[in-house]
Amino acid sequence: MRILVTGGAGFLGSHLIDRLMAQGHEVVCLDNFYTGTKRNILKWLDNPYFELIRHDITEPIRLEVDQIYHLACPASPVHYQYNPVKTIKTNVIGTMNMLGLAKRVKARFFLASTSEVYGDPDVHPQTEDYRGNVNCIGIRSCYDEGKRVAETLSFDYHRQNGVDIRVVRIFNTYGPRMLENDGRVVSNFIVQALRNEPLTIYGDGSQTRSFCYVSDLVEGFIRLMNSNEIGPMNLGNPGEYTILELAQKIQNMINPGAEIIFKPLPQDDPKQRQPDITRAKTWLGWEPTVPLDRGLELTIKDFRDRIEGSKQ
Ligand code: NAD
Ligand code: UDP
Repeated sequence: MRILVTGGAGFLGSHLIDRLMAQGHEVVCLDNFYTGTKRNILKWLDNPYFELIRHDITEPIRLEVDQIYHLACPASPVHYQYNPVKTIKTNVIGTMNMLGLAKRVKARFFLASTSEVYGDPDVHPQTEDYRGNVNCIGIRSCYDEGKRVAETLSFDYHRQNGVDIRVVRIFNTYGPRMLENDGRVVSNFIVQALRNEPLTIYGDGSQTRSFCYVSDLVEGFIRLMNSNEIGPMNLGNPGEYTILELAQKIQNMINPGAEIIFKPLPQDDPKQRQPDITRAKTWLGWEPTVPLDRGLELTIKDFRDRIEGSKQ
């Protein structure tokens, strides 16, 4: 098949492309390189079955493809809040353009949505039928309301135009290739510990998150895309940790002498988050296989190679 991956030069997109190329597909990677880098897809650049297009999805594009994995959108609060108007354009206009493309060429369309659609949840763990608690005028809304509209658009194109959709709600995912300045918690703590800087906990560290390793997530993507279910479907690792526990774990793994400091909690930071993955288990037979300790080891190795390599 010919498969388009928007945001393919980013963290998740590049891991997905590795899997799709290994399966023998023809892959078109479309990215504006806002948070993605050519380094992530370097090994495919000379491959005749791989094509890279520098393009911003807020502008329309004409392509012929069979499937679209739509991932283009900055995912870290630091990056999506840098230019919030652009973030909402990417989520709304960009998603509309990609759905329009899917409609025209009758491609199956996969939306990378997010657990952020649940906002600061008052139901725990979060099931797909929970409708969320989102602040529509807060600093996260360019992203979480943007993704809610992206889901709405997907379902309306499905109902109105018969577009074949798949919608996945991704919970915090980590792994090799996250940017050193990504700003999300796992990469921040690892980079800080490796550089012998203090680990920065926002708030008192009692807020929770559930961390999924990237290879597990990509497996879930491919299974949902090739199933008959449209979703929405939670994908994530139900293992739930406080941010303080995560900091201590990374401190112990890298640098037990590293300091931990506390900084103000950003506005609207969700207090707890854990996926209910019953749907993914029963519909796809999917569940995560990589425990946090193992996933962190692999991620730390990647950051160590990059950080120590750049010193030489
Ligand atoms: P990332 O920032 O590494 O990747 C996003 C990619 O999209 C980058 O390559 C970036 O350059 C590209 N991009 C951004 N705006 C674009 C535009 N207007 N036109 C073209 N390309 C554009 O982030 P990621 O972690 O790989 O996330 C990928 C997707 O998964 C995003 O849609 C994100 O919302 C979703 N998601 C990720 C997580 C996670 O924990 N990693 C959790 C929930 C949802
Ligand atoms: N966080 C933190 N220190 C950091 C970066 C993030 O304590 O250096 C916290 C953040 O406030 C949030 C949690 O870690 O409570 C997860 O943050 P991240 O940005 O990774 O993801 P999200 O909030 O979008 O789930």
